[in-house]
Amino acid sequence: MSRIVLDIDGVMAGFVEGANRLALDMTGKALASPALCWNWLTEGPGETLTPEENKALWDCIGKSDTFWVDLPELPHAGALVTAANRWLAKGHDVIFLTTRTRGVDIKAQTDVWLQQAGVDLPRTILIAGNKGEVLAALKADVFVDDYAPNILDACAKSPNTNCILLAQPWNADATEEIDRAGALRLGPEATTWAIDTFLGTGKGWRDV
Ligand SMILES: [Mg+2]
Repeated sequence: MSRIVLDIDGVMAGFVEGANRLALDMTGKALASPALCWNWLTEGPGETLTPEENKALWDCIGKSDTFWVDLPELPHAGALVTAANRWLAKGHDVIFLTTRTRGVDIKAQTDVWLQQAGVDLPRTILIAGNKGEVLAALKADVFVDDYAPNILDACAKSPNTNCILLAQPWNADATEEIDRAGALRLGPEATTWAIDTFLGTGKGWRDV
């Protein structure tokens, strides 16, 4: 039995698309899509929000009981869900680890979103920011995230966890750093292939 930990936003759920939709409604501004950097809401290239607009956007997310439910699925989400259900059916633990902090009933919204995306029961959701420490405590075997600092933190604090940075435009500049840390930066198809290979052989990419 292995323990696979998956981030949600930027891995399965289109947080950028959801935030951009809200930003367009609130300000009339069309922000970069796809986002080209982590802080695309307030940093270029392209149109950005003022600090006041950014605060108003996050306040709106904080008061919403539907923002996280309404996020679109990323194009490859269906394939990841199929793989996650296959891992669950084989008796592996699949845990969804997110740092979502703003919103009404975040965990319930997240569960409804995963259900709508087709993730089977049991849907285990953890909301936490200190992902490296959480992964070490969980003794996670595999971790997938789209935020390079989370992967580097995981490599440092949870050395037995095999980490994958899911390739997105906003983490393209982290490739070398990720490689040096012993993690992989992979697209969605290669991600499920790498995890299937690990589950089949028991050999992680940190062992070879
Ligand atoms: Mg993410």
